[in-house]
Amino acid sequence: MAECEHDHDGPEGLSGHHLSHALHDAEDRCVRAGERMTQPRRRALELLLEAGKPMKAYDLIEIFGEDGRPAKPPTVYRALDFLAKLGLAHRIESLNAYVACEMGERNHAAAFLICDCCGATEEVEPFAPEKVQAAASKSGYIIEAVTVEAHGRCGACAS
Ligand SMILES: [Zn+2]
Ligand SMILES: [Zn+2]
Ligand SMILES: [Zn+2]
Repeated sequence: MAECEHDHDGPEGLSGHHLSHALHDAEDRCVRAGERMTQPRRRALELLLEAGKPMKAYDLIEIFGEDGRPAKPPTVYRALDFLAKLGLAHRIESLNAYVACEMGERNHAAAFLICDCCGATEEVEPFAPEKVQAAASKSGYIIEAVTVEAHGRCGACAS
């Protein structure tokens, strides 16, 4: 995503002890879900948390190795899949990108306000996900994920 000309703060990624705290929480969630936070899974989440904005898989592949070497693509794709399944990250279809979940524990439907100018993305509570669930239940449909993706301009880019 190209830098826009509008005046606003950059993405707010995590660093230092906020980052280690978030990774620690994520590890707990893995354990409670009976899963393992393997090194690639942890690294993928770390990069998403540091970025604080949606990242495409191939951008992560480039910077994946802590020694500066790119990773094997399947390693990164599998790690991202896992994070999305556990709700630690979300896939944003319209951007073909992944973003760390900002909402904490709870398997939830996700909604994003995506700025098409600067690329900033804000995760918000989706509107009435229980209605979608109710409609699905009626026909025996099993929902695996609901993601609402709003496109437009953030406050700074709109003004
Ligand atoms: Zn979320
Ligand atoms: Zn913007
Ligand atoms: Zn802008």
